[in-house]
Amino acid sequence: MIKFQDLFVEVIIPLALPKNYTWAVPAHLQQAVQPGVRVEVIFGKNKRYAGIVKKILDTKPDAFTPKDISNVLDAEPVVHQQQLALWEWIAQYYMCSEGEVMQAAIPANLKLSSESILIWNEERSYDFSDLSDSEFLVAEALEIKKELRLNEVQQLLDISNVYPVIKKLIEKRVCYVWEELKEKYRARTETFITLSPEYHNEDKLADLLNNWSKAPKQMELLLSYLHLSKTEGEVTQPQLLKKSNASAAQLKALCDKGILQAEKRATDRIATLPKDIQIDFILSEAQDKALRMIQNIFTEKEVCLLHGVTASGKTEIYTKLIETYIREGKQVLYMLPEIALTSQIIRRLQKHFGGYIAIYHSKFNPNERVEIWNKVKSGETKVVLGARSSLFLPFRDLGLVIADEEHDASYKQQDPAPRYHARDAAIYYATLSHAHVLLGSATPSVESYYNCQQNKYGLVTLEERFGQVELPQISIIDIKKTPTKEKGRIALTPPLLAAIETSLQQQKQVILFQNRRGYSPYLICNTCGWIPHCRNCDVTLTYHKTKNTLTCHYCGTSYPVIHTCAACGSHGFTQKNFGTEKIEELVTEAFPNARIARMDYDSVKGKNDHDALIKLFEQQRIDILVGTQMVVKGLDFEHVNLVGVIDADGILNFTDFRVNERAFQLMEQVSGRAGRKDGKGTVLIQVSNPVHPVLQFVKDHAFERLFNYEIANRKQFAYPPFTRLIQVTFKHREKHLAEEAAHIMMQGLKKDFGAECNGPAQPVVDRVRNQYLWEILIKLPKHAQRIQLCKKEIQQQALIIQNNKRYRGVTILPDVDPV
Ligand code: ADP
Ligand code: ZN
Ligand code: ZN
Repeated sequence: MIKFQDLFVEVIIPLALPKNYTWAVPAHLQQAVQPGVRVEVIFGKNKRYAGIVKKILDTKPDAFTPKDISNVLDAEPVVHQQQLALWEWIAQYYMCSEGEVMQAAIPANLKLSSESILIWNEERSYDFSDLSDSEFLVAEALEIKKELRLNEVQQLLDISNVYPVIKKLIEKRVCYVWEELKEKYRARTETFITLSPEYHNEDKLADLLNNWSKAPKQMELLLSYLHLSKTEGEVTQPQLLKKSNASAAQLKALCDKGILQAEKRATDRIATLPKDIQIDFILSEAQDKALRMIQNIFTEKEVCLLHGVTASGKTEIYTKLIETYIREGKQVLYMLPEIALTSQIIRRLQKHFGGYIAIYHSKFNPNERVEIWNKVKSGETKVVLGARSSLFLPFRDLGLVIADEEHDASYKQQDPAPRYHARDAAIYYATLSHAHVLLGSATPSVESYYNCQQNKYGLVTLEERFGQVELPQISIIDIKKTPTKEKGRIALTPPLLAAIETSLQQQKQVILFQNRRGYSPYLICNTCGWIPHCRNCDVTLTYHKTKNTLTCHYCGTSYPVIHTCAACGSHGFTQKNFGTEKIEELVTEAFPNARIARMDYDSVKGKNDHDALIKLFEQQRIDILVGTQMVVKGLDFEHVNLVGVIDADGILNFTDFRVNERAFQLMEQVSGRAGRKDGKGTVLIQVSNPVHPVLQFVKDHAFERLFNYEIANRKQFAYPPFTRLIQVTFKHREKHLAEEAAHIMMQGLKKDFGAECNGPAQPVVDRVRNQYLWEILIKLPKHAQRIQLCKKEIQQQALIIQNNKRYRGVTILPDVDPV
């Protein structure tokens, strides 16, 4: 007989706890536990969680006697050892708990807790014959109530059984899991129409059509389908009904006859593409050389930076590189900033990698996420195209990570914790998995480029655009010198108007970039100068004309438009400055015959709107596109030959040590949308300080010079890459409490880090959502041990502060490598 010893497990549960806790494993579960499996535990008074076993321990903790785990939920680990190592690193590096990393890392369906809500899966058929008795009981309740909380399930069933039952129900697609507090998002599903496989045979199809006797409308429908599927590829039900002018009943009749098939699918999902690689282009000489250099670098270094100017064909190089990894049976992660993850890039890659590729981002529903999770785990999916959280997928054999647009600040997660930088975490993860990392950008971050200079990363430079297209010609327009009738700034200068006119005459397209949305960024009282502010935040309200509101861009609150000054009672207001909405209006006035559209956070709410607009622009059904940052990110349009930057001052006048780097990136990237395919493009930048050094660099496309200029500044003022920054933010509704807490922390850090600490100070916007903000900024020399020590002290101080009743409500947020 086997004698069971005491066995304990360290378990990560999805909560922000200062450390992981230990549970005991009762004898009958000892065979089943292993690192990476989920176990059911009770934490606190009576809360149940599905936690993940991090380690098996064979000695009992000294201080207390652990409770037993209630159940082991998986026969196989749901996460690999390497993922657990990544979680640990992220928690340690970015100063959060492993539970918080777990929250971000795994799909909701895998992390049940007492707060979880089960949602009835509408798409499932109502046939319950495959369910066990307990499963049936829950399914029936779900069908009626549509949602159940875990404690309701517990009441329905024998308590100790709930997790295995729920797990089965999820597997059988009866329900999925939503976490409370999370926005309820359901993926948009659409009914797709396909031809029954039987008629894929052309003779059979011809037969069918030739012998058609009754129901002419159905025949018309079928012909419309055939036409659409040729021109569009995939056909949706609304699309088909519209084209054929038929009714849903007529379509149903065709489906009932087994000629067409209807299938409900999430529009993003890519279920049925064939698994093969189709590469129909050849690299140019310069691209090919770059590819070989990258491969060469990977024989000795883990990380390589591809610095390729805009439209040099970086995507093509990635594609070829990805192919080599797939052929070796390896997996590839291709990361992009969320907003750049458009259908344009998805289409481009799906064309090459078909069913090998999966898309992963935050808009997917839990079922789809679990599906992709499992396919990555099994190795069926070879390439994942995703936003930052795709780094957490359970890759089985990761060979390569591509971080495209590596300079992009949105790789860094802001809220909630973990405040991790996906590019940097990817580099750590790649070293664990012996994978390579390719960073790509036309405007690399100062940090990455510096790492190349230090020989930590390899560097490959691609200086020419594909097809020998020239980089656009950039001209600076001095706003101060433009004659104007308007008071204040002018939005569209005569040279810009003339250039737009020329482009339109040449049947080309124009992009106008303005970094502020809304109509006018603020209103000001003509008499006393009073400016309306948000009640919850220390920011001015932006006037939105179409919605006719004043809106706070920090907390989203909208107010009715103010006509009477709150300070002096007079009625005259002036609109100051201009947002995209106003630019759109001005352009429409100037070019009444042009087709004009706007792309910003207000005009494109859903991901699909964004894609739809991009498509329209691609198809040249829009002449002038006015937009914010959204028009900048990695888009490839053939016929744009003019880009106008409406207000460069707004980009150059930020108070942030990265302002020059950011301004260069933004202007160079937006310029990069001009003249990508045929003929040289033009970029016009309107600014009131035309001699700003960054503008000279942009004008000459001189990244290297920008870098040298920046690096000298950074060195002088002790900013990254020469130091490591940790910013600690204190938030409270009472200004003095946040301030006091910050001072206590500062006092505590003084002994060891007096010289490195700055603050406490209020940020430029010092109140957001009714919380006052105070900040401490710590600039640490790059000594691993000192950094470690500092993090420890910050955490200790935070505990001390929060254990003091007076400051219990103060939120303390450390942010490592803030962007
Ligand atoms: P980048 O990502 O560097 O800005 P893209 O990869 O978008 O550049 O390439 C710019 C354009 O040139 C795209 O439309 C792309 O399809 C085209 N292109 C680049 N390289 C090739 C190639 N080798 N063969 C055919 N077309 C190419
Ligand atoms: Zn007034
Ligand atoms: Zn606000």
